[in-house]
Amino acid sequence: MGNGAHLDSDRHALQRLLDELGRLPGIGPKSAQRIAYHLLEADAEEARRLAQAILDVKRVVHFCPVCFSYATDELCEVCADAGRDRSQICVVAEPRDVTAIERTGAYHGLYHVLGGVISPMDKIGPEQLHVRELIARLADGEVREVILATNLDVEGETTATYLARAIKPLGVDVTRIASGLPIGGDLEYADEGSLARAMEARRGM
Ligand SMILES: [Zn+2]
Repeated sequence: MGNGAHLDSDRHALQRLLDELGRLPGIGPKSAQRIAYHLLEADAEEARRLAQAILDVKRVVHFCPVCFSYATDELCEVCADAGRDRSQICVVAEPRDVTAIERTGAYHGLYHVLGGVISPMDKIGPEQLHVRELIARLADGEVREVILATNLDVEGETTATYLARAIKPLGVDVTRIASGLPIGGDLEYADEGSLARAMEARRGM
């Protein structure tokens, strides 16, 4: 574009950035403005690094076809690790819960990410989650325990109860992480010690 020739999208560049930032979770209009003005004042290289990091993560990261956690290689790091205990699968709602449990360093089994929790209000039932794939992973008899580590809130408990009913008839032990996590039982915000204890003190369902 030569000087003086302004595309309509150029003219609205700042507004577009504010709109996009405002769509991000936890970022209201005020935060969006703060970030946008920070980027305007930052040097071009800093802004380019942020843009590139966003593009790279979308290009490189995908769902692991086995456990549905995030992966950059064909399988995620946990599924690809021959040293993990393949007799245990810890079931969580979201990939960020895998990160939270991995941070404790106290668990050495495998994971299965449901991709959400059962929520009749949001019209999310077992069919919308990776439940069928979880049941399929139990077919070869190698898994002896499924640890249900969905959050300790109503939807997490509903999901755990549903899964326990579906899995127990297959002859696999089903356990539930212990309560004692912070209010709402959100794994993501639990400190590593509490989360490690909740895993350790899990009970049969
Ligand atoms: Zn995986």
